[in-house]
Amino acid sequence: MTTTHAARLLAWYDRHRRILPWRAPAGRRADPYRVWLSEIMLQQTTVATVGDYFRRFVERWPTVEALAQAPLDAVLSAWAGLGYYARARNLHACARAVAQNHDGRFPEDEKSLLALPGIGAYTAAAVSAIAFGRPASAVDGNVERVIARLYAIETPLPDAKAETRLKAARLVPAERAGDYAQAMMDLGATVCTPRRPRCVICPVMAACRARKLGLAEDLPRRAPKAPKPTRRGLAFVLARKDGAILLRKRPAKGLLAGMDEVPSSPWREGKLHPEKALADAPVPARWQILDGLVRHTFTHFHLELAVARAAATTGRLAELAPGTSWCTVDRMTERALPTVMRKVIAHAVAR
Ligand code: SF4
Repeated sequence: MTTTHAARLLAWYDRHRRILPWRAPAGRRADPYRVWLSEIMLQQTTVATVGDYFRRFVERWPTVEALAQAPLDAVLSAWAGLGYYARARNLHACARAVAQNHDGRFPEDEKSLLALPGIGAYTAAAVSAIAFGRPASAVDGNVERVIARLYAIETPLPDAKAETRLKAARLVPAERAGDYAQAMMDLGATVCTPRRPRCVICPVMAACRARKLGLAEDLPRRAPKAPKPTRRGLAFVLARKDGAILLRKRPAKGLLAGMDEVPSSPWREGKLHPEKALADAPVPARWQILDGLVRHTFTHFHLELAVARAAATTGRLAELAPGTSWCTVDRMTERALPTVMRKVIAHAVAR
């Protein structure tokens, strides 16, 4: 299948490639900085969401050196809304490592790329292939699906991962490896889609075993996932007369590390007793528990936050804990506020 598969896919790619803000025009080598930045942003995030973030980032920090020199807080706040914030911290650490240890140039081979912060097997292969034309095999969820169907792999994921990677690697051509990697991504995103794959227009239809067996839509199979637990807490929105809201910085390690947040009680599984959770309020005040809940889902758990609101009185400002600060509504976009906290503030303001 190898030669024919790559040749057919590349011919299709030449006609149907997606135009994306981080892609180099046909026939030109891509900028490693843009490839790396887009690949980090695209982890767990859709192409449609990433577009604007990517444009803003490269406008503000056009090179890896510029990003390396930026304060971490500026990077975190520019990232706010993209989720999975450890990526933003690693992005910054990686830019610094490239600037300091590699003279501002990304290394070309997968092994050296893998040694950089936040770069895993998929990203190392994608950067090596797309930016440097090396025959590396980049296997993400889209490619996993295409390979599972091409070979009719019925072993459920994640057990099928090793076999999938092996088969994907054997298909990578020696020439135009970067275009090939992007062609596989495009095929998975636009033709070999999770539901209703468009087999009739697929350039590799003739070789596809799942299509012949009538299994295309059933693959890849997946082992059932354990249900996510739900954690609950009470968030405290303390507002000054001028509308400024009290924020605090999260610890430098762990979930949403280093981001800003509205203070809250600890997030725990089990029933929440809002009246008891008031004991965790950042200052004594006339807290009013609002109707409704804010819901958000993280990788490993669902979160339900009740929201309490109070007006700040001047006499109590001296009691604020270290690490807290006031933020006016017009400066909110400059802060590294994760989506869940934006939801909490919107909930408090709406009521
Ligand atoms: Fe996917 Fe259908 Fe193409 Fe097979 S023929 S690779 S199932 S789109």
